[in-house]
Amino acid sequence: VPRILRIALDTPLRQLFDYRLPPGVDAARLTPGMRVRVPFGRRRMVGVLIETADRSSLPSQKLKAALEVLDEASVIDEGLLAFVKWAADYYRHPFGEVLAAALPAGIRTGKTQIAPAPLHPAPPETNAAEAGPEPTAAQAMALEEIVGGLGRYGCYLLHGVTGSGKTEVYLRAIQQVLARGQQALVLVPEIGLTPQVLARFQARFDRPLAVMHSALGDRARLRAWQQARSGEAAIVIGTRSAVFAPLARPGLIVVDEEHDPSYKQQEGFRYSARDLAVVRARQQDVPVVLGSATPSLETLENARARRYQRLVLPERPGEARHPTLRLVDMRRHAVQDGLATPTLTSIEGHLRDGGQVLVYLNRRGYAPTLFCPGCGWTAPCNHCDARLTVHLRSRALRCHHCGFRQALPFGCPTCSHEVKPVGQGTERVEETLASRFPEAPLVRIDRDTVRRRGDMQAVLERVTSGEARILLGTQMLTKGHDFPDVTLVVVVNADQGLFSVDFRASERLAQTIVQVAGRAGRASRPGEVLIQSEFPEHPLLQSLLTAGYDGFAATALAERQAAHWPPFARLALLRADAREAQAALDFLQAAADAAAPGRSVRLLGPVPAAMARRAGYHRAQLLLESGSRGALHGFLDEWLPAIEVLPSARGVRWSLDVDPADLY
Ligand code: ADP
Ligand code: ZN
Ligand code: ZN
Repeated sequence: VPRILRIALDTPLRQLFDYRLPPGVDAARLTPGMRVRVPFGRRRMVGVLIETADRSSLPSQKLKAALEVLDEASVIDEGLLAFVKWAADYYRHPFGEVLAAALPAGIRTGKTQIAPAPLHPAPPETNAAEAGPEPTAAQAMALEEIVGGLGRYGCYLLHGVTGSGKTEVYLRAIQQVLARGQQALVLVPEIGLTPQVLARFQARFDRPLAVMHSALGDRARLRAWQQARSGEAAIVIGTRSAVFAPLARPGLIVVDEEHDPSYKQQEGFRYSARDLAVVRARQQDVPVVLGSATPSLETLENARARRYQRLVLPERPGEARHPTLRLVDMRRHAVQDGLATPTLTSIEGHLRDGGQVLVYLNRRGYAPTLFCPGCGWTAPCNHCDARLTVHLRSRALRCHHCGFRQALPFGCPTCSHEVKPVGQGTERVEETLASRFPEAPLVRIDRDTVRRRGDMQAVLERVTSGEARILLGTQMLTKGHDFPDVTLVVVVNADQGLFSVDFRASERLAQTIVQVAGRAGRASRPGEVLIQSEFPEHPLLQSLLTAGYDGFAATALAERQAAHWPPFARLALLRADAREAQAALDFLQAAADAAAPGRSVRLLGPVPAAMARRAGYHRAQLLLESGSRGALHGFLDEWLPAIEVLPSARGVRWSLDVDPADLY
């Protein structure tokens, strides 16, 4: 008879904890996934039962008894528990912490009682509240594959240009899933920014929808979780962490805009929700659809190797036409506050013809630098290796990396000369456009103007009503919004992504340009896209212009293969932060020394991070690279326990990032 409970607890320790059975509890009625209250040090904690055992490796006098079992049935079913375990193992994160991240607060703390796992009769057939358009031939072909694959694992890349009707394919496939009495899980990059996507799902299905995202309060989150778990919600739509949503009858997983960087969690439990969605689909034996106009190079390579099935939507339905892309050579034209003469002329023309104009610049604030022409001083952040950004309207200098702010100085602190803002942010471009086109109402969309929930909705209404003629904004503009009356898109500065130290920067730049270009000309008006650059002959821009995203991707994949970068190699990044630069480097060096030699894993570093100091901490990193996932993970199995006990680990904050998205 098992007498020992192995419990996952929300602690940073990478282990399970053994407890004796609480008095009077019958081990036979326990199942993994039940919550158990246990003593832990001087506290009491609620953990999750993972398994029972006959014996413990702890001496019996050290074993404490658990206090109580909270549930009659598992709160988290075996399938989901296995998935969470897989994620914790793969990303080398403590199981208890991953489990805690997957459960809503009320469940985690033991406050909320939960009904026993439901056995539902299959819900009634769905009535589409609103019928969609007739699928095009390409949509019909994609649907046939996906729907034909229901009931078993399969991974599909739905590769369709922006506006080609990918969402329409998801909606129709989901209709079939619901007709089978199953649920669909839909992951989207950001819900707050894309109310339109949610509205479309709500209009199409006359069924309860559970929405999960990080801005939800505890109660709303708990409710959505329960609706997903009971099967009451036919569709669960959420951001990154919704990949852990419980599902009574999983039928299909969709990852919209699969290339979006926000699927990667960058802190704490660092995971890729896109990658985990594929793992979950395989474990639950359901199909998964990854949709994008600009698929990540990883996904394209998986499709090329036939691990994923590529489904293509080459055209926009109806009359909508692809926009034409043109480069504006910034060296050859007069430039007024970041906008070249041909750009200004184009804006004027499109406004005159009644079109809307979208101006994209991924930099908020007035100017990225405050400069003294007298002595060459630039305003630095005292806590980071970074310059302070000028915010003119709030008369402040702000650090976009650590949040530090100070009042805008009148003169140079070293020579008293008058200082001036250099470079362009959205605030400055707004000023330029407003003075140049005073008749055209403008909306600016960035983190400074769209802060609260509802702000985005209000701004979008000004755009869709046609009141606003110019839309100016950052990355926020590129996320899934339809702007049917936009006929001109201007990319103010394409050069930031061309020469970055990050090997993924060019991929991101190409994705951004294609995504922002896709906002134009969705209706019957043809769109035009202007890309301002000082390096118009750059091969990336040229391949994008002449061969589109596919052409760019082919070039970029060849480069990655030659350089042994992902997807042709596997990476893990050990990061360390410390108050003293040397402490971080010493720890990483000790970690490198602890590695067993002769493995098929290369260690690169340690080196200071690209931004070596941030928020007062010195940052350094050690990169691990291997041609094989198996070799890398085999290496980590032995290496991690060794570095956890290094004496030099004590003075630093360190973390391991498996499949890192950013290398700085
Ligand atoms: P994507 O998700 O690829 O950006 P959407 O599904 O949002 O594309 O479709 C873009 C626009 O085209 C939407 O307004 C949608 O209603 C419309 N649309 C999609 N499929 C069709 C179709 N088969 N016939 C007519 N219009 C369609
Ligand atoms: Zn000076
Ligand atoms: Zn700073």
